Amino acid sequence: MLYKRSDSVSEPTGTNFINNIIDEDIRNNIYQNNKVLTRFPPEPNGYLHIGHAKSILLNYNTSLRYNGKFNLRFDDTNPVKEDEEYVQSIKEDIKWLGADWEDRLFFASNYFDKMFLYALELIKKDLAYVDDLSPDEIRQYRGTLFSPGKNSPYRNRSIEENLELFTRMKDGKFIDGSKVLRAKIDMSSPNINMRDPIIYRILHTHHHNTGDTWCIYPMYDYAHPIEDGIEGITHSICTLEFEDHRPFYNWLLENLDDFKIQRPKQIEFAKLQLSRTIIGKRFIKTLVDKGIVDGWDDPRLMTISGMRRRGITPEAIQNFCDEIGVARSNSIVDIAMFEHFVRDDLKLKTPRLMAILDPIKIVITNYPEDKIEWLDMHNNQDNESLGIRKIPFGREIYIEKEDFMEVPIKKYFRLFPGNEVRLMGAYFIKCNEVIKNANGEIIQLNCTYDPETKSGSGFTGRKVKGTLHWVCAQNCIESEIRLYDYLLNDNNDIDDDEDNPDPLNNINPDSLKVIKGYLEPELANANSGDKFQFVRNGYFVVDSKDSTKNNLVFNLTLNLKSSWKPSNS
Ligand code: ATP
Ligand code: MG
Repeated sequence: MLYKRSDSVSEPTGTNFINNIIDEDIRNNIYQNNKVLTRFPPEPNGYLHIGHAKSILLNYNTSLRYNGKFNLRFDDTNPVKEDEEYVQSIKEDIKWLGADWEDRLFFASNYFDKMFLYALELIKKDLAYVDDLSPDEIRQYRGTLFSPGKNSPYRNRSIEENLELFTRMKDGKFIDGSKVLRAKIDMSSPNINMRDPIIYRILHTHHHNTGDTWCIYPMYDYAHPIEDGIEGITHSICTLEFEDHRPFYNWLLENLDDFKIQRPKQIEFAKLQLSRTIIGKRFIKTLVDKGIVDGWDDPRLMTISGMRRRGITPEAIQNFCDEIGVARSNSIVDIAMFEHFVRDDLKLKTPRLMAILDPIKIVITNYPEDKIEWLDMHNNQDNESLGIRKIPFGREIYIEKEDFMEVPIKKYFRLFPGNEVRLMGAYFIKCNEVIKNANGEIIQLNCTYDPETKSGSGFTGRKVKGTLHWVCAQNCIESEIRLYDYLLNDNNDIDDDEDNPDPLNNINPDSLKVIKGYLEPELANANSGDKFQFVRNGYFVVDSKDSTKNNLVFNLTLNLKSSWKPSNS
């Protein structure tokens, strides 16, 4: 389910070790008033994906569970890749997911002044220095996992000299890359992140929020703990790759006077990874830039906007996230499990209508030529609250090609010459004649219907084994249907780590197929984003970008076959 501020949050099925940590903190009275404050800190350098959704829901639901608050903070400290378009899309996606930041929207770039003052504080405490080594030299001096680093020759500059140089850095007196500000910690620390990390660099670049005010920018590892500290975040939840950064996170806050009383606690959890798809902004951006997909909201992408356009609901995402829980070790989740929750959520919510995606024409030879009758049909047999609609029945019908076999195989109960089947919600029909064109291809089936067998009439005379979906050929509407398959050919072990293989080598060239569909006339009234089950074909949604009244476009959400079974059933 989706949680709201007014709800009490039910216990998710999956385990969540973070709750245990917070429970313990509360028992020990660690936080003032025990007010839990979490945040989601996206960098506005791309659109959000399912992994972000997990993090958003985790942070938001944690705040609800402890009756606390949830901040949305744009971590916009790197001007190079950030953009206003991304800020807008991120806000829209978080709202759609149902996480409510109320009036608690923040931008890290609004703290640049404070961050600068904190840097001065570090310098004054002899805990930071200006270094003139080149980027290459800094790398060499840093040492390796197996050997300690060595001190920069500039490490022992006086506090006065450092204050003056850092101020001149800020005033634009130096070119990019010529100087950096570094924390003064320990060049022989076993943790490389503690070997005098760079905390400020010179970058003469325009920033989307602060314009040209700054030509020095804080590094992520310096900025992030300060952002958390300024906002009074109690639990700074992030992904596992930041575990080695935690000592610096703590070092920094411990050394700044403003954070003496209460400091945020960084807690790491495993990134969500899914089979057969690409998660990771960097790769998604490449697919978008290369035109392999149709923008960030391509329905094949696991971006939040792509999933929305695919017809996936926020509830399905929430239920999936509840089930997988929050863990401390990385693993790849089977995409089939995610799909289970998508189907499970749509099952009772969507009206079930009929559409033929690969038609073969039937002429009912004993049905009057001009007659159309309107039959009553339940919109969803398992959810009567969705009501009843009228569907037209006439002399010419389409069924799916695969529902007919001229020479039936064993146990084939659908239509074949001489066999009788039920047309869903209508009558029994029997196939009498197969009509072919000059090439021997079947172009029409001549059938007869039995008026006695009308659905709902209580007819019990005889039984048939096959029930087919159909549409009335005289009254149906045509539309574009986009059928989607996985983006990747086979199972991936791909995260966005630098040393992982390039997923672009594994792209499925047939992930999109566009066909024509023949739909019940009822669907002419469908609006952008409306979701349906097309009986026996799958779940579909009206495309929000390209569909128009006169040219309807439906996207396949998922077919109906699930290969995943919940473990408790
Ligand atoms: P990407 O790796 O896709 O570029 P990111 O971590 O760089 O993502 P940010 O905007 O920096 O993207 O992340 C915002 C928050 O989302 C961070 O707290 C990050 O840990 C979290 N996050 C990112 N990817 C995942 C994921 N796959 N699973 C869970 N949380 C994630
Ligand atoms: Mg990032």
